[in-house]
Amino acid sequence: MLEGATKVFAARNGDTVAFQDVNLSVHEGELLCVLGPSGCGKSTLLNTIAGLDKLSGGSVAVGGEPVAGPHFTRGMVFQDYALFPWLTVEENIRFGLDARGFKGDKQMIVADLVALTRLQGFERARPSQLSGGMAQRVALARALANQVEILLMDEPFGALDAFTRMEMQEEIVRIVKAQGVTTVFVTHDIDEALYVGDRVAIMSAHPGELRRVIPVPIAHPRDRVDPQLVRLREEVFTEFNLAHTREQYYHI
Ligand code: ADP
Ligand code: MG
Repeated sequence: MLEGATKVFAARNGDTVAFQDVNLSVHEGELLCVLGPSGCGKSTLLNTIAGLDKLSGGSVAVGGEPVAGPHFTRGMVFQDYALFPWLTVEENIRFGLDARGFKGDKQMIVADLVALTRLQGFERARPSQLSGGMAQRVALARALANQVEILLMDEPFGALDAFTRMEMQEEIVRIVKAQGVTTVFVTHDIDEALYVGDRVAIMSAHPGELRRVIPVPIAHPRDRVDPQLVRLREEVFTEFNLAHTREQYYHI
């Protein structure tokens, strides 16, 4: 759905190429991870799919429709949750439905999502009373409430401690697979990408380019020490020149 996609930020003191000539299609119902170091253009890429940023060249389409601007069928989840602090958990989840004047059974949709994301008992809590993991569950439920065609997540677990992060990685897979929602998940964490991704799109920085897309043909839920996963990990570390560095040092 991205074809020859290029994004250049023009500035008086020189242009910044966020990414260039990216060709990438996301399969229906898959969880695609976009993996790369900071500054390689991941957020900008996600923003162009969301319609929050315009491409400088090439094209972006979702479900065959060119992306012209933001739309409720493309849900975003950010690292900092972006919840409304004055609204309860339930009201946050319902927000998108209220905002677009949705006429169906909102109460049922919210109740289903509270159950799916395991937020029972917290319906009337405010965001300030929630842990980071719980807050991210609310952000996810809010994005899903609109029955999105595609879910876009930008380093959603970056602010969580390592253990909560692993728990949320399991949860995100369970939840998006239960909903069958097509998901693009941006991360700079190699293990996270390989644990959650059906495929992992590897980007390099300066200029931001899509290097290759690696399928992860291991069924969910995954074993973190699955030998096949460990082999893929080595492959990705090698791709980023991060493997076998000790040997390199000793041979200098
Ligand atoms: P990532 O999310 O992979 O860390 P970004 O998409 O945020 O990368 O940024 C890619 C590049 O584009 C960086 O060099 C960044 O400085 C630049 N960039 C991002 N947003 C803007 C902007 N609004 N104006 C100018 N440059 C930007
Ligand atoms: Mg980013």
